[in-house]
Amino acid sequence: MTPPRFQWPEGNRCACVVSFDVDAESAILQVDAKYATHATTMSHQAYGPRVGVPRLLEQLRAAGIRATFFVPGFTAECYPDTIRRIVADGHEVGWHGYMHELPHELPVAEQRAIIEPVHWSFDDWEQYGFFVDPPLGDSVEPPGKLLEIWQGELEAFREEGCLQVLTMHPFLSGRPARSRTIGRFVTFARELGGVWFATAREVADHARSVLDESGARRLRSALDPAYGMRDGDAT
Ligand SMILES: [Zn+2]
Repeated sequence: MTPPRFQWPEGNRCACVVSFDVDAESAILQVDAKYATHATTMSHQAYGPRVGVPRLLEQLRAAGIRATFFVPGFTAECYPDTIRRIVADGHEVGWHGYMHELPHELPVAEQRAIIEPVHWSFDDWEQYGFFVDPPLGDSVEPPGKLLEIWQGELEAFREEGCLQVLTMHPFLSGRPARSRTIGRFVTFARELGGVWFATAREVADHARSVLDESGARRLRSALDPAYGMRDGDAT
């Protein structure tokens, strides 16, 4: 096997961050505040913090991993006990805007600074997102499809020494069969071996410890040629 492109702690060959966006109602109210009076839409979103998160916490406990939960301020205000349970279980909580503000509404330069490189293949939204009103997403795929995508990429990432960031939404992946995907994926990763499950902060701290500024830019360039090399970067 070729040496990994990046050095991970404790001899691991790759890293995986399991993350959740606890959007709840904020993501829809960001689209239009009128949905506050749509009971079906609001209850669909409230399922995340009310039912999805507790179920996902159980699955994470059983799998023996810690995850990163990105929480809009509005969600934290509406469901403080849910967020306390996340913290009490040892998971990381990260900021997800206040009312799920949309990055694509920011100027391009700001978008580049905060979100590149990004892609959607590990996001549960692409497989499970389905709304009639607002008309967002039209997909109800089986959990096995998402698992297959994650597993295939993990095998390749492990060969190349990459970081895999899984993104789930408790109102989507907190449903019974879907939530079990996490345990299956962790079992698959443990059987492969050499996969470091870490929180986003642990990965960031590790990256800071092994990369200086020009090294960080070189890594980005390797991942996304659009970044290009900057003046002064060592080759
Ligand atoms: Zn979100």
